Amino acid sequence: MNPIKRVKSEGVSLKKAHLVMILLTIVIMCILLFFTFQSASLYSEITASTDSYIELQECAESLMDASDLLTDRVQRFTVTQEQSDMAAYFDEAYNARRRETAVEKMSVSAPDRAAYEQLSSALDSSVKLMETEMRAMKLICDASGYVTDYAEVNNAVLPAECDAMTKEEKIHYAQKMVHDSAYYEQKMAIRGGMDNCIKTLTDDTRNAQLRIKEEQHFNLFVTQLLLTVQSVVMIIMLWLTSYLGINPILKGVQRIRENRKIPVIGSYEFRYLAKTYNKMYEAFQQSIEHLNYDASHDKLTDLYNRAGFDLLCESIDLHSTAVLMIDADKFKEINDNFGHAVGDDVLKKIADVLRFTFRREDYICRLGGDEFVVFMLHMDEKRRQLIDIKIDHINRVLADTGDGLPETSISVGVAFGGSEADLETAIKHADEALYEMKSAGRHGCSFYEPDNIQTVSET
Ligand code: GH3
Ligand code: MG
Repeated sequence: MNPIKRVKSEGVSLKKAHLVMILLTIVIMCILLFFTFQSASLYSEITASTDSYIELQECAESLMDASDLLTDRVQRFTVTQEQSDMAAYFDEAYNARRRETAVEKMSVSAPDRAAYEQLSSALDSSVKLMETEMRAMKLICDASGYVTDYAEVNNAVLPAECDAMTKEEKIHYAQKMVHDSAYYEQKMAIRGGMDNCIKTLTDDTRNAQLRIKEEQHFNLFVTQLLLTVQSVVMIIMLWLTSYLGINPILKGVQRIRENRKIPVIGSYEFRYLAKTYNKMYEAFQQSIEHLNYDASHDKLTDLYNRAGFDLLCESIDLHSTAVLMIDADKFKEINDNFGHAVGDDVLKKIADVLRFTFRREDYICRLGGDEFVVFMLHMDEKRRQLIDIKIDHINRVLADTGDGLPETSISVGVAFGGSEADLETAIKHADEALYEMKSAGRHGCSFYEPDNIQTVSET
């Protein structure tokens, strides 16, 4: 039967805890990444919005600059009558075309239709003002006798009263046309359109920035919150790993080093591991005990065998111990006359009698064959009579054939550890005493004497 039974374990599963933590981390990381990308996109948006504002503002200003340049050229032309001013005027109006370009850009890039319409109306006002400027330039050409190719100038319709004017009057009239309050009112209309356009752009940009700022604030708040949660999750993960995994491993390793059971702590898996290990440990210890017992005990008599005897020799306190070497008398005859099985039963009987005659604290060994050793603890020479009595009792029991076994007896040689140099010598001397007993006729006990005079008592 398998001694390792299936063990029931409880506790938090390290696998599940780990899985939950990993999933939580992945979710938090994904949300964090999302908000990080969104922040980056908001940053790009605010940069693009600012760039676009600057570009559109420049557009609007460029329309005004172009309009001012036209005004400047036409006013100079009315004063200096230099054709280069008129040429510069038309170069701006039809080649540079900064006003039209500005409105085109506005129509494409302006975030708000209103800004485009305001700039477009400024352009309309500027174009309308050109009619006055054409008339002024035509008057100057008439007064100066210039012939021009600019159809717009040639086609300009002058008031009827101009026909009768002198050269100076025409020049004066032309100057008045581009300097009077009506002219500047129209200029104001152009500037107003441009200002409105810039104001619309500013408002739009501010609104966009405000919206982005609010979104960015929210993003930052969520990012901070998630980072805090992520930190807490990491701390919990570290604690869980330590509590569920590392701590049980360290304690388990320490216990294994001390050859003890390991504590059932930590995660479900470690509890399972610890319980299984502990069951195996118990089974192993039991096996070792059995092995130790089998290795040190004789199977036939259940007494200590030679290996057990050797172990006992290492631990015995010689000075208070009597060593008894015992051998069955004429045992071969029992084997020969009654068979080996009966011989075994007689050996068992001898072992039982020895076990019951001596104290529990005494050690009884079968060295092999019909040879036994008894270590009588706390025994000195003064009580040798007690040994005699015990041997006498044993031989009487062995002589009793009431149990169906043939009669037998033992011979014993005794040496007292108190008078011996070491155990080896004590055993040797006990053996010599046994030999003396055998020589003296068997069936009794002989005591080894240090002065070589041995006392033999036949029972
Ligand atoms: P002595 O009085 O001089 O001791 O004579 P003995 O016949 O007893 O001689 P010895 O002690 O030398 O003989 C021991 C015999 O024990 C020899 C062997 O056949 C027998 N023997 C040894 N081991 C076993 C065993 O396990 N079972 C049985 N039945 N006999 C054994
Ligand atoms: Mg014998």
